[in-house]
Amino acid sequence: MSKLTHNELARKMGLFRTFEEAGSGHIFWEPNGFVVFDSLREWIQKAHEKRGYEFVKTPIIYRTELWKTSGHYDKYKENMYFLEVDGEEYGIKPMNCPAHILIYKSRFRHASELPLKLFEFGFVHRHELSGVLNGLLRVRSFTQDDSHIFCKPSHIQQVVSEVLELVNETFDKFGLHKRKYYLSTMPEKHIGTKEMWDSATEMLKKALNANNISYELKEGDGAFYGPKIDVEVLDSLGRSWQLGTIQLDFNLPERFKLSYVDEEGRKQRPVMVHRAILGSLERFLGVLLEHTQGWLPLFLMPKQLEIIPLTEEQKEYAESILNNIKERMPGSRISVEEPPSNLSKTIKASIERRVPLLLIGKNEVEKGTVAFRYAGEQKEMPKEDFIDYFSNEAEI
Ligand SMILES: [Zn+2]
Repeated sequence: MSKLTHNELARKMGLFRTFEEAGSGHIFWEPNGFVVFDSLREWIQKAHEKRGYEFVKTPIIYRTELWKTSGHYDKYKENMYFLEVDGEEYGIKPMNCPAHILIYKSRFRHASELPLKLFEFGFVHRHELSGVLNGLLRVRSFTQDDSHIFCKPSHIQQVVSEVLELVNETFDKFGLHKRKYYLSTMPEKHIGTKEMWDSATEMLKKALNANNISYELKEGDGAFYGPKIDVEVLDSLGRSWQLGTIQLDFNLPERFKLSYVDEEGRKQRPVMVHRAILGSLERFLGVLLEHTQGWLPLFLMPKQLEIIPLTEEQKEYAESILNNIKERMPGSRISVEEPPSNLSKTIKASIERRVPLLLIGKNEVEKGTVAFRYAGEQKEMPKEDFIDYFSNEAEI
């Protein structure tokens, strides 16, 4: 069967639209799509809470002065949107770094607070050429799973190692098991001393090795402000997507004169780690939709299960399954349907909309089993096993 694009899948599943009259490259999530987006957001939030990240939320527009201090005005202006407020120029954020820096800088920081991990579902705007815009994959506004970790230079290995663990956990969760890692080192044009770069690069290598990750070296391909690790994911169609990134930054702490006071009472400069795992939630969902052909993990599915009794006689059994699941997961998105007049038509329509099905016939009631249809497969299993399985897979 030919593979569908995420735009085609989104229409079948009722996920999102874009509107020319509103402007290209901006996503309008429909009710089904919002469930998917928000469930993904919630899963990410929980994964980060477990690891001591602290959540923040910051504005969209900032005085241009701030973008001058951060260097974005110099280096990134073409991708930014500007507007005038009270006769003064403001820029819409293309990244969240300066916002998190303001929060870091807003009060005295002691070494004992570090590493400080600030996380934001940062909504950013970047100007992309209209010709390259494509559904969720190339957009002009999107949501990043963005964090800035402020740490001591001696923390780098541990901090990066923890991020790599989270990278593995995240992509495994979504069935994206084929990954490639790249380590980019000091480019010709750079700031900071060679010793600083050598030691930071060494720590990145140690973090990769500690996680048994093999990687390719990209000599001289680092950002001017620090070395970085990029994570590429291969999808079921054999395409690779650069999603995650972990970048060390010696530059912004310098530009914004960030500091902390160490154990001996001396003022020191922290290192910043910019990191995103999915990169853009929108783009990731585009990739995931095509990778799974719409059969997303159950916890992301807008409709998680339709239970179909084949005749009136199996209705009670069907209701009992629904009640058992609802007891364990009151928020589950499941229903019992009316017995269908045309079963094969009903099944076909559900597959078209990507809805997991539970078929209950005479046989199932007699044996105490269910027939579960999901992602092109049908599995027979005892009712109790199914309720366990479903509750585990459907809960965030
Ligand atoms: Zn950043």
